[in-house]
Amino acid sequence: MKLKDLTFKGGVNVPHHKELTEKLPLERAMEPEIVAIPLHQHTGAPCEPLVKVGDTVKVGQKIGESQAFVSAPVHSSISGTVKSITPMAIPTGLTVNCVVIESDGKNEIHESVKPKGSLEELSSKEIIGIIKEAGITGMGGAGFPTHVKLSPPSDKKIDTIIINGAECEPYLTADHRLMVEEPKKIVFGLKAIMKAVGAEKGIIGIESNKPNAIEALMDASKNEKNITIISLRPKYPQGDEKRLINVTLGRIVPSGGLPMDVGAVVSNISTTKAIAEAIIEGKPLYERAVTITGSGIKEPKNLIVKIGTSFKDVIEQCGGFNEGAPGKIIMGGPMMGLSQYTIEVPVIKGSGGILVLTEEEAKPIPMGPCIRCGRCVDVCPVNLQPLYLSNYSLRGKFDKTEKFHVLDCVECGSCSYVCPAKRPLAESIRVAKREIIAKRKKAK
Ligand code: SF4
Ligand code: SF4
Repeated sequence: MKLKDLTFKGGVNVPHHKELTEKLPLERAMEPEIVAIPLHQHTGAPCEPLVKVGDTVKVGQKIGESQAFVSAPVHSSISGTVKSITPMAIPTGLTVNCVVIESDGKNEIHESVKPKGSLEELSSKEIIGIIKEAGITGMGGAGFPTHVKLSPPSDKKIDTIIINGAECEPYLTADHRLMVEEPKKIVFGLKAIMKAVGAEKGIIGIESNKPNAIEALMDASKNEKNITIISLRPKYPQGDEKRLINVTLGRIVPSGGLPMDVGAVVSNISTTKAIAEAIIEGKPLYERAVTITGSGIKEPKNLIVKIGTSFKDVIEQCGGFNEGAPGKIIMGGPMMGLSQYTIEVPVIKGSGGILVLTEEEAKPIPMGPCIRCGRCVDVCPVNLQPLYLSNYSLRGKFDKTEKFHVLDCVECGSCSYVCPAKRPLAESIRVAKREIIAKRKKAK
């Protein structure tokens, strides 16, 4: 292990609020009576249903697939009967086709769920095939299909895989618990990714405020000479993949570039564990670790939740809301999470947390004029000038924001967090990014 805590330029020290759940072991959530499994919960093409109303399905059975390369199949998380295939709201804000399945209470596992062989025997192509068939996507939020990430063009040589154990978002502790409770699977998953892309080196970067996770992974990797555990100084957004690459390898991903441009691939903890399970048990991605937390929740927990379970059911298992109406419900953490207008949405592959804030905590603070203090510029980890980008975006001058590299913004929210005038910096910058991306798509 590298003993010195490493960090990057910019960023913010945010209150962690992890004490609510960091010591609570993962528990299995109650079996849902009904699930709504979205056919589009990833970046890329939506899936077409492989089942129809009235069909019976089993746990792990593939129920949706697309022929497009950038897509990921979806699987049933329970056994039961397909009741409907219908458009429903999902936590990303989209309305997509969902396969609604009523449980038969048997939890029968599909025949396709069986071990896929030893890592030594599997070829790189076979590992990528298993990951694709298991429907594994980035579980840290973006939902990019993992088999695509692990298939770089032949001219991009990957030498290092970095596992993101920072979990720098306040409140969230699901990855922390996985590192403590499933370290062997994480090391196995890392070795599988290394073999899949032919990388010689593996790194697991963990913020130093998780000493038990560092200890567990050091122990699990003690016989792996190509794997290093690196302790990182706690700072937000330490888990951003470009910051991690810079901190752990000293490499800088160029503007508009990808980690593969500097020989690296970054994978999230939950994703890495899902890869291990896909190989060892043949288990597709149909459940995940979720932190349910915040002052608005009666009994915060870390739960293993079946994909498609409603937020409402999960919140009820945590004792429901505390006194009074919740002020804000967020999928993910407070910095990069997505606000929800309803709890009638299903847990998806990217749902690492459900955060409930009280009305008092969520009260909007009135916005004032920019006082040109420069704090937003100081904290931006990408060296952008948020005040100008936001100003252009609010005036609809999206072309100008493009010239100032708005697409390099990682949407970390650090600028909004420090702004004394409470300007909607990250929010307006996000709008500019969406507008530019939509314009580029239209031009194609
Ligand atoms: S401009 Fe983007 S990357 Fe920079 S601090 Fe704001 S949200 Fe983060
Ligand atoms: S932090 Fe807020 S007030 Fe200060 S320069 Fe940036 S936008 Fe203006």
